Amino acid sequence: PFDVLVVGGGPAGASAAIYAARKGIRTGVVAERFGGQVLDTVGIENFISVKETEGPKLATALEQHVTSYNVDIMNLQRAAGMSEKDGLIEVRLESGATLRSKSVVVATGARWRELNVPGEQAYRGKGVAYCPHCDGPLFKGKRVAVVGGGNSGVEAAIDLAGIVEHVTLLEFGDSLRADAVLQDKLRSLSNATIITRAQTTEVLGDGQKMTGMTYTDRTSGESQTLDVAGVFVQIGLLPNTDWLKGSVELNGRGEVVTGSHQQTSLSGVFAAGDVTDVPYKQIIVAMGEGAKAALGAFDHLIRQTPV
Ligand code: FAD
Repeated sequence: PFDVLVVGGGPAGASAAIYAARKGIRTGVVAERFGGQVLDTVGIENFISVKETEGPKLATALEQHVTSYNVDIMNLQRAAGMSEKDGLIEVRLESGATLRSKSVVVATGARWRELNVPGEQAYRGKGVAYCPHCDGPLFKGKRVAVVGGGNSGVEAAIDLAGIVEHVTLLEFGDSLRADAVLQDKLRSLSNATIITRAQTTEVLGDGQKMTGMTYTDRTSGESQTLDVAGVFVQIGLLPNTDWLKGSVELNGRGEVVTGSHQQTSLSGVFAAGDVTDVPYKQIIVAMGEGAKAALGAFDHLIRQTPV
């Protein structure tokens, strides 16, 4: 069996694998797609000490760093289930194989819920954005929209209002669902507009970049156009935890609940990155947590009686 089996090959998983391998213990990484969300990212400007990089470049660097250690990488393999058996953790793969390990680091990340409207894919990274902390500064002085009136959408609109010229928040329902204090804050801003009962219908562009978007006013039934250079989609982040149901504790959002050493509710299983209940989903946070999870797993291993 492995000493540490990392499930997921994004920033959290890569960091966990390097920290584990550096302890000289048997380390494996199983990942559906090594690199994770970073592969879908265009510019990265907040990975501290690297002023500017691109997603695929960072993903390659991650892989090179991991493969410079003695780590068994199983790429293009999807985990389908996890359980404890005879003091070992078993991870079942979709291929039918089962991997056994003394400890596991869960780092399967998350995915943004998409609008699923025409133009969204074509202008992804060219106006369509999902992360205000990452891409907000790119829209300095421009007009943008935010879709989603929950806490993350309203927080994003408040955040963006401090950077961009004007922000329009679109909510599908009759009212915003964010905490009242956030709604009050947004309403107090002179360069923010809130539109409820708005169903986003299309992202418009000139072939190179986004130039606007359309929505249907659900009260009048009329189609409206917004001239915006960007839209931040804030309708939910879905953790990749379907394969964990019944094995470790998940919170109401389906995220893995972790403790101060990244431990989960199942002894020997640790978790890191966007898949967890960590409040801020960022590359640097995921890497820090990956390091903590591997060290947590190592501390767990040295406390086990030899079998
Ligand atoms: P992920 O990167 O999601 O990696 C998860 C890994 O697990 C992948 O290898 C995946 O294939 C694998 N996996 C999933 N399910 C399974 C399964 N069942 N079995 C096996 N493997 C599985 N953050 C920043 O800090 N700065 C930015 O500029 C920035 N820009 C972004 C732009 C976009 C478009 C997006 C989508 C995100 C951006 N982020 C940015 C967020 C950042 O990418 C994430 O916070 C980070 O990648 C999380 O790392 P992770 O390792 O936890 O998860």
